[in-house]
Amino acid sequence: MVLYPFPLLVSKNFDWKELEENFWIVTGENTCEDFNGKLEPTATRCAHTCEVVSKSDEHMYYMILLYRPDSVGAGTMAHEAGHVSTFLGHRLGFQERNFENDEPYAYIDQFVADCIDSVLKDKPKEMNGKLYKLNTIDNGKQ
Ligand SMILES: [Zn+2]
Repeated sequence: MVLYPFPLLVSKNFDWKELEENFWIVTGENTCEDFNGKLEPTATRCAHTCEVVSKSDEHMYYMILLYRPDSVGAGTMAHEAGHVSTFLGHRLGFQERNFENDEPYAYIDQFVADCIDSVLKDKPKEMNGKLYKLNTIDNGKQ
């Protein structure tokens, strides 16, 4: 059962050339651009979450790039998971996160953090070249 339409990609071993050849980055509500050096790692950035569109199937994905996997701990997992749930909630027209509707967001946060953790532990369900393609954000645990 697919509840959410955008697959999640988490990678700790990507190369920029491969990313640029295979994806556009979503830079606005519905604007795609080539990567062109966007999201290059900085001294303080150990991970980044973005929306991307595959150049082959034109499907949108959530992509979490782990620049320095050794530095990714629970805090970073929670941080990046929060970006995914916020982006996804916006895309799907969820009411903004508040005290009454927090739980669906929290389930997405939990699922995404578990996905990041599974990649860091080298136990992803599926692999797609250097990108670790995990389950669509649909059926919870792997
Ligand atoms: Zn952030």
